[in-house]
Amino acid sequence: MSGGAVLALDQGTTGSAALVVSAEGEVLGRAYSEFAQHFPRPGWVEHDAEEIWTVTARVAREAIAAAGVEVAGVGVTNQRETVVVWDPETLEPLRRAIVWQDRRTAALCRVLEEAGYEEMVRRRTGLLLDPYFSGTKLRWIFEDDPDLAARARSGTLAVGTIDSWLVARLTGGAVHATDPTNASRTLLYDLDEGDWNDELLDLMGVPRRILPEIRPSSGDFGVTGGDTLGIEVPIGGVAGDQQAALYGQGCWEAGTGKCTYGTGAFLLFNTGPERVASRHGLLTTAACDAHGGPAFALEGSIFVAGAAIQWLRDGLGILEHAADSEDMARSLDGNDGVYLVPAFVGLGAPHWRPDARGTITGLTRGTTRAHLVRAALEAMAYGTREVVDAMERDAGWRARGLRVDGGAAKNDWLMAFTAGILGVPVRRPEMVETTALGAAGLAGLRTGVWGGPEDFAAAFGSGRTFECEMASVEREALVGGWEAAVRGTLAVVGGS
Ligand code: ADP
Repeated sequence: MSGGAVLALDQGTTGSAALVVSAEGEVLGRAYSEFAQHFPRPGWVEHDAEEIWTVTARVAREAIAAAGVEVAGVGVTNQRETVVVWDPETLEPLRRAIVWQDRRTAALCRVLEEAGYEEMVRRRTGLLLDPYFSGTKLRWIFEDDPDLAARARSGTLAVGTIDSWLVARLTGGAVHATDPTNASRTLLYDLDEGDWNDELLDLMGVPRRILPEIRPSSGDFGVTGGDTLGIEVPIGGVAGDQQAALYGQGCWEAGTGKCTYGTGAFLLFNTGPERVASRHGLLTTAACDAHGGPAFALEGSIFVAGAAIQWLRDGLGILEHAADSEDMARSLDGNDGVYLVPAFVGLGAPHWRPDARGTITGLTRGTTRAHLVRAALEAMAYGTREVVDAMERDAGWRARGLRVDGGAAKNDWLMAFTAGILGVPVRRPEMVETTALGAAGLAGLRTGVWGGPEDFAAAFGSGRTFECEMASVEREALVGGWEAAVRGTLAVVGGS
């Protein structure tokens, strides 16, 4: 049995989106709004949690009004790692949220690393000691503000990631809860235990009682109050944005994965019930199985993907629109040995070389704008292959295919080329808002909008599949050229 509609709230880094999705897979209503970014000092990034709530509630009401149907449940997906501190009685934020991009705890991370905590942290959390994650942000807050530290000790303060903040506000303070996918980004969560861990809590100075309770991603997160969204319905799904996209793409079983091609590229591969430790520079994180229950994933991030196309357009002015890159790449029969390694901000997974900088190799008098554009697109495919290779080596299996989404996944030439370089099919769904879709799925399963995961998947069609049409000799020659270009890039900054 299925029917009705579900509201998905996608609370991102620069804006909040709300979509009302029907059981048949139609988007009945949608709304989006940006909100303010605060940069109080170099390297610091903050959000006003109250504004996040106000904006999210507003777009939710707009989407519900536009849909004009009854909504059976709410799903929440969110920017991960960002931390909020609030008063559990008044539900007022007690300071600005510290955003995942914020680097203020870099020195603290180095101190913890030098004190020898990295191994324990990695073993328990699957993460690294990096300012990106929530734990050191919370320790920093309590070191910075003795009043908040005292309130943390006495339990008169609540902390959490954005999902738990939204759940608190949506339920009028009745529920303080998060899910494993968000919890697994905090440095406070033991992946094997599936719970907050006391050793980690001590390290980050966070008392357990102020943290949200961890509930299944497709589960019971309370009921929205009539005074918040104007409707009283259950919140049935919560997941961090990348894991929600993985779920929305139908990557529910071991060996299935997705890549989101936006500014950067974010790859997640489901490893099923098995937790795989990476030896190749990837993170291990909590994900969802078909029913929103616990699973694990390997995660790798490429810092610059579509941003290289942006640079060719806005920096060099050799493209008018990002979409023009497709015809320009197609106009050439091959890359003629030109490679662009877009290490503009260093290299991410699997190299982890923050000191690396971009290079273009193989230039001749015959090199044209089209060669540079093609090289920038090809780089996305090679970067994807490096991360997929690392995942295969870590997990000990072969990827069967890759699902794709994000702005640059609209480029058909790039998707076909990626299928060729990976040697497996690449599938792009019809509904590209996979993050919101994942939240809708998790909530819709719980609230009966879909009878089971198959009903949910069937509602959204299959999209377009790009098969591998590249001969293996060509693939190996191209990948060999890329590897030589990366070696050259690393040689410039020393080492390999
Ligand atoms: P984000 O969410 O990171 O802002 P989007 O998913 O909106 O990113 O994707 C935008 C990125 O994709 C930009 O960097 C842009 O250069 C790139 N892009 C958009 N369309 C194309 C295209 N047709 N071919 C290649 N890159 C594209």
